[in-house]
Parts: sequence; structure tokens; C-alpha cells
Amino acid sequence: MQTNWRIGSIFGIPLFLDPLWFVILGLATLNFGLSYQAMGGVVAWSAGVVMALLLFGSVLLHELGHSLVARSQGIKVNSITLFLSMKKKASSGARPAPASKKSSPHLAPKDGCP
Ligand SMILES: [Zn+2]
Repeated sequence: MQTNWRIGSIFGIPLFLDPLWFVILGLATLNFGLSYQAMGGVVAWSAGVVMALLLFGSVLLHELGHSLVARSQGIKVNSITLFLSMKKKASSGARPAPASKKSSPHLAPKDGCP
């Protein structure tokens, strides 16, 4: 059963959103909103929402970068899913043998990326 919501695709990679992502969005908004209380109520909470969305936008761009690099290395990326822990889940096929010994810890899609 598919519980994630498809929110679009970028470069042919489907993007999914886990419903629990809204929990972390709410917590991030709360954190930012409380930090901006000196700006006034509505402005502070609006800034909190904007900052939380910018945070997740940057996470999405980061994970998209992983996915595009992986794809350039011949690794199939089936999708990117943002969920509660802000990690991505990039399903992939078998990784081909590396062309050289040079590697990057951020080269392959993986869960648990900082
Ligand atoms: Zn990373």
C-alpha cells in the first residue's frame, strides 16, 4: 500500500512526501516561529513557515544532488521520498563496479546522510 504522496518529479525522478513529514514541518515552524517572536506574532509565524519550507527545500536540493550524481554513475534512482527524519529514500538498482578507486562519501544515494 502506497502511503506516500507524489508531489512531482525533477529530472524524471519522482518525488514523494511521507505524511509524517508534516510533523517535522510543524516542529521546524514552531522552532523558527518562537525564535522570531520579537518580530511580532503573524510576522514571526509566517517567517517560521517560510524558514521551515526553505530548510526542506535545501534538503530536497541536497538529496537531488545525490540522486543526479548517482544516476551519472549508472545507478538507477527510482524516487526520492522526504519523510519524518528528513532523509531521503532513493531506491536504486545494483551499483556497477567503480571505474576508479577515487570515491566520495556523498556519491551514492544512501539513507543516513547528514
Ligand atoms: Zn549528503
